[in-house]
Amino acid sequence: SSLPPPRTRIFKIIVIGDSGVGKTCLTYRFCAGKFPDKTEATIGVDFREKVIEIDGEKIKVQLWDTAGQERFRKSMVQHYYRNVHAVVFVYDVTNAASFRSLPAWIEECRQHALGQEVPRILVGNKCDLRHAAQVSTDVAQQFADTHSMPLFETSAKNPYGNEDGTQNNSDHVEAIF
Ligand code: GDP
Ligand code: MG
Repeated sequence: SSLPPPRTRIFKIIVIGDSGVGKTCLTYRFCAGKFPDKTEATIGVDFREKVIEIDGEKIKVQLWDTAGQERFRKSMVQHYYRNVHAVVFVYDVTNAASFRSLPAWIEECRQHALGQEVPRILVGNKCDLRHAAQVSTDVAQQFADTHSMPLFETSAKNPYGNEDGTQNNSDHVEAIF
């Protein structure tokens, strides 16, 4: 007879940001290890998980990938803000509007009692399209500093870098979650 396996700890992360910034692709990349062949607009909340091992302990990382649509948000919002361990704010580096939306997302979090006491990180996605970037690293870094968050710039599509497969200095998705 052996000891029962220890209960797997659950680590709940919510992924927030405007529609189209790549939340679904990022969570898919992390959990399935690849860019999805096709994505459909998230309705309500998409939920993915992956078990990782840290110091010999298995931890179930749950990613709650939320939809931007107001009518779904209203009913779901209470639910997915519950028992959150970390918040990931995502913008699209090629879409300045998605960056300008961040204060509203941060405020929504704050209203649900997720302020600085919960780890929050900022992620600029689609860095494989750097040539089309509208949000510079400097501006993003300043914003991240103001809100006491670390900044990562990444690509769900080409995690090692550019469109043509060459390397750029973006962060790997695995390093973020
Ligand atoms: P969501 O609405 O935030 O969940 O965004 P999706 O994950 O559905 O992605 C929206 C669109 O952006 C899709 O057409 C994706 O193929 C595309 N996309 C997502 N991530 C990346 C990325 O890192 N690079 C590029 N070039 N396109 C991406
Ligand atoms: Mg989505």
